[in-house]
Amino acid sequence: MRKRIGQISKWSLLSLILFASTASAGWVSGGGELISDSRNPWWVKNTKEVHYCVQIDENNFGVSKPRASELINKALSYWTRQFKDITYGAFADGDGGIAQQKFIESACGQPNVLLNFQLGILTTQQIQKIPGVTGFVGLSVRTNYVPATLKGEGFIYIAPQSGPLRPQAPNLLPDFWQRDQQSRLYLTLLHETGHLFGLPHTSKIVVMNEDLPYWAASSTAPDWPTMSLIFDQLTIFKFTYQQTFPLGFCFSSSQQPQELEEPEEPEEPIRTSPPRTFHIQKNFLANLSPAKPVAVKSPAMSPMRFFGLDANEGCIEPTLVGKELVFILSTSNGASIEFGRSNLELNPSPHASEKIIDLYLTSAAQSIFPNADFSRPVQAMGFYEAEVLAKGLYKNADGRTQRRLSLIWSGGMFTHIGGVADGEPYFDILDGF
Ligand SMILES: [Zn+2]
Repeated sequence: MRKRIGQISKWSLLSLILFASTASAGWVSGGGELISDSRNPWWVKNTKEVHYCVQIDENNFGVSKPRASELINKALSYWTRQFKDITYGAFADGDGGIAQQKFIESACGQPNVLLNFQLGILTTQQIQKIPGVTGFVGLSVRTNYVPATLKGEGFIYIAPQSGPLRPQAPNLLPDFWQRDQQSRLYLTLLHETGHLFGLPHTSKIVVMNEDLPYWAASSTAPDWPTMSLIFDQLTIFKFTYQQTFPLGFCFSSSQQPQELEEPEEPEEPIRTSPPRTFHIQKNFLANLSPAKPVAVKSPAMSPMRFFGLDANEGCIEPTLVGKELVFILSTSNGASIEFGRSNLELNPSPHASEKIIDLYLTSAAQSIFPNADFSRPVQAMGFYEAEVLAKGLYKNADGRTQRRLSLIWSGGMFTHIGGVADGEPYFDILDGF
């Protein structure tokens, strides 16, 4: 189904499909519903070099041109590195070449420039073609595509933090690109450049979350510089022990720690633990939206009780050391205590491999992928490990608590930690369920 601009959230950036019309013929933008080749990667293996240029309104954008160029270069290299882990469909003979081009910054206006980064800048003609232009933080717009060569060209627009093109939306920060060492800009560039390579919106990859550019411009949480540092180190398409950051969380108890249990009234249900209410804040990587502590649903099975940990506040960042998960508690007074470990056993069956890149081939006119099946115009081009399942046996430091764990890895992180306690399975121990 086609989406009309009026029906989608203005802030669902890149859900935008600019309809073909005399005014905007050939214009498509990534991330929308599949309409012929509109979601194809802009370049595949026959394109060896991509010249791009950077135009910037430094005053309104709030970032210098050298710094912006540096971040653009870093974002493109990021995808070159990540796409090495993509598995290609058989028709591509194991090599689709996505994001493997040599990206060269050139002067704008040169005929060989295929991609224009427009930071805080749009032409009058572009403004006319983008309805509600101040409703966007970022856009990637393909303006031309040649089916025979599978080669696209277009521009990436990132809205400025001030001036007439500053986005109009609630809660935007005054200086969103400038602040936090430009890490918000970097992650937004990762998002928009991700669309160049055919990546759709998905919540399984943090930066390809539909709302990321809006969060980058608006929310005060999370810790964006740390997030960008950590995100840079993850392998998001394929599990590796070295480049995985397990889900962490912080917690605090809303009641006094040493409260003794009153003798039970006869009509009250029997409690197996003090009625503490833990407030859990999941790690910023797992939950990018503005921080709001949530009470665990089942105080009887708080994460602290699950792990056999006697503490009432702190942050836990389970960390992979070799092939073992090490659980460390850090507290507000700066202490850092290892309180337990678990082995990690990956599901030995082939990891759930999911399609993430489509390639629409209109005819045999192109000779780049001669083995494609033209009875099906949409070829499943790129696959990634969307979810990897693991299990383990957790033991706390004094050996008195042992729990079977089940974990889900997705997008470079463990996004779920569940397990069994007192014979009950808990799908998500942070949730108490
Ligand atoms: Zn997008």
